[in-house]
Amino acid sequence: MRYAIVADIHANLAAFTAVLDDIEKRGGADELWCLGDVVGYGPDPHRCLELLRKYKHVCIAGNHDWAAIGRVDTASFNAAAAEACFWTAQQLTAEDRQYLGNLPLMLQRGDFTLAHGSPREPIWEYILSEVAARENLAYFETPFCLVGHSHIPFIFEKGESNERLAGPEGDVPLALAENRLIINPGSVGQSRDGDPRAAYTVYDSQGRSVAHYRVDYDISATQLRMREYDLPDSLVRRLSFGR
Ligand code: ZN
Repeated sequence: MRYAIVADIHANLAAFTAVLDDIEKRGGADELWCLGDVVGYGPDPHRCLELLRKYKHVCIAGNHDWAAIGRVDTASFNAAAAEACFWTAQQLTAEDRQYLGNLPLMLQRGDFTLAHGSPREPIWEYILSEVAARENLAYFETPFCLVGHSHIPFIFEKGESNERLAGPEGDVPLALAENRLIINPGSVGQSRDGDPRAAYTVYDSQGRSVAHYRVDYDISATQLRMREYDLPDSLVRRLSFGR
């Protein structure tokens, strides 16, 4: 089975569509695993939710998903994020709100635990360091864990006597073996690692491997729609740089 792992779509329909097309080109996926933040920042929250739900998928809650329905507050959001969140809330249908409200905080799928931020603090914690990654190993029981939230793709690998947190090496597949792993696929809709392309990961359960991919998408199309809706300029501009 092939599982496509997507995170932080952030209402960016052009990016999400490009990723879905790329998945098809590479042989398709049996199921999508979405790591949360389907909405927030971007111009198409409803349409992204609608598109995701057309696929066989599982999804967990992200901070923006729950902020948009008022389940967590936006006190820790910066001004632009809070403004976009307020706008997002107005775009959602009753069905969208119900879907977001029913998302679980964490899920287990086979050898993987899925959490938006971290298994220790699924909604809010950013795993950005080896220390944070190592500490989080105690908070999930499966060999492997998938997280999003930071919008920065990485692989944390914990061996018997060594550990390593690094960016993926292009799209070279990583073989799953004894070492425990925490993997971030990067963000579909708002990259922050300096590469503005959309990011996602594929897990091949037969081949026992995961591979990170990057995909070009029509950034200006998303920016145009954001300007149409008067979304904050800083959010529009950052898409060009992936920062
Ligand atoms: Zn996010």
